[in-house]
Amino acid sequence: MKLSQHDLRQLDDGYLQRLPEAALRALSLTLLADLKEAQERLQQNPNNSSRPPSSRAPWDRPGVDATAASDTDADEDDAVAPSRDATARDDDRAADAAAEPPGAPPSGDPTPPPERPKRKPGKQPGTPGVGRTQVFTAHATEEHRPTACHGCQASLAAAAAVCYTGFQSLDLVWGDPKEPGVRLRVVDHRFFEAGCDACGHHTREQPMQVADDPTLEGVQLREWRLVGPGLATLIVALSLRFRLSRARIHEFLDDWLGVHLSIGTIHQTLHEAAAVVAPVEATLLADIQDSGLLHADETSWPQQEQDRWLWVFLTATTTLYVIAGRGKATVTQVLDGFTGWLMSDGWFSYRGYARRLRCWAHLLRKAQGLVECYDADGRAFGHLVRTTLETLMAAIYAAREDPPPDGAAVDLPRAYAQELQTLRRAVAAHLGHRHDKTKALAVEFFNDWDAIFRVLEHPQLPLTNNAAERALRHWVIARRLSHGTRTAVGSRAFTLLASVIDTCRQRRNSPWTYLVKAITDRRQGLPLAPLPQVGV
Ligand SMILES: [Zn+2]
Repeated sequence: MKLSQHDLRQLDDGYLQRLPEAALRALSLTLLADLKEAQERLQQNPNNSSRPPSSRAPWDRPGVDATAASDTDADEDDAVAPSRDATARDDDRAADAAAEPPGAPPSGDPTPPPERPKRKPGKQPGTPGVGRTQVFTAHATEEHRPTACHGCQASLAAAAAVCYTGFQSLDLVWGDPKEPGVRLRVVDHRFFEAGCDACGHHTREQPMQVADDPTLEGVQLREWRLVGPGLATLIVALSLRFRLSRARIHEFLDDWLGVHLSIGTIHQTLHEAAAVVAPVEATLLADIQDSGLLHADETSWPQQEQDRWLWVFLTATTTLYVIAGRGKATVTQVLDGFTGWLMSDGWFSYRGYARRLRCWAHLLRKAQGLVECYDADGRAFGHLVRTTLETLMAAIYAAREDPPPDGAAVDLPRAYAQELQTLRRAVAAHLGHRHDKTKALAVEFFNDWDAIFRVLEHPQLPLTNNAAERALRHWVIARRLSHGTRTAVGSRAFTLLASVIDTCRQRRNSPWTYLVKAITDRRQGLPLAPLPQVGV
């Protein structure tokens, strides 16, 4: 928008009548551009298609949850035991159990939990607001003066200007090897208004605001300008990389930097940073869809009272996090057009995808579980699974180290046909076994046989999903500390920032240098810089 409310209040009949033709034409163009922009914004809503495809997260389309629910009904209860098998989940279950206070009712207790008080987080209505009282001595003053009249375009270089508003911005400067340490820099920003000699219009230079991402609605940028790009980046780092709560960040800034920022400002700063980087999501998604090998994993993620799932999609150079339903819709939409190899666990949502690989670490752990169980058949089956997988793993490692000189593929399936056939028979024999865990592992091998043993034909493909599990582990700890997110907007802000941070780190670039530039550029109305490519 070129014209501010301050400008529009001054534009009336009389003003337009007085304006010479050339100036009137110029103003018409401005008005037309603003009107088109306003119309486009008006038409943006979740149910029409006028928005650019990138403006909405594909997994957040209406109906995603409905589909997810029906998927669950249709697929989850087929012959496969619904035991899901990510280490992350197992780890937290153990931790959750450990965290339970002694004497707590066992889970599954039928008494409903006490109703939560219907109190909204944050400032309560009627509570007196707390204004900013901290004023610093500025290191510099920056003046922002209008250069051309918003009415008639005449130059305002010679016009007398008065300061109509101003604010202090606090920024953090760090990482300069010539001047090691962290420095707080305070700048007084002054904004000026000037009257036009030619037409009488008063033009104000106004602070730039980052355009809201349509999927981050409700992001208000009231006090954001107080927090400079460097300080905003530190807040993002403390929140996501160091997993501090908003209250702890508030405490840290107060105690260590002598800066008093309200919890609300810290919260808005995080959401603004997410809105800043929102455009990279389309690129991350494209990288994933173009990749030859993708790791996927998921873990539960509470969002207020809803049970959501935190998904990770990870290639050699890109990490994308998504918080969405647990159903197939998320996978289908993220993998739209993907033709590479997909490494995942046995969760039903992935099963429709043909070029799938299974993590052997999970299968080996389950086999080990059987080896240690009390059922004699189960122990024997577990032992067979474990030794077969270990034999094949040794063969795969050998094939990786010593590929045949003529470039022909090693024919592992043929070389180990005997072992595979023995296992296949044992699997078939245990499909209806009375011991639940034995039956479950047999069914899992039966359903996923091709995905599990595909790696024999392509020994260079990975054997485990460790990369994706490692990526989720950091956030599993964050979830334990924060109990998830509160709103859909909060979840989206969280996944956007997490995706950018982890992708930068994966590419051996500083996410913090990137974020400082991104926030600086976008606050000046410049486009978002692309994510750094793989560095050295
Ligand atoms: Zn003018």
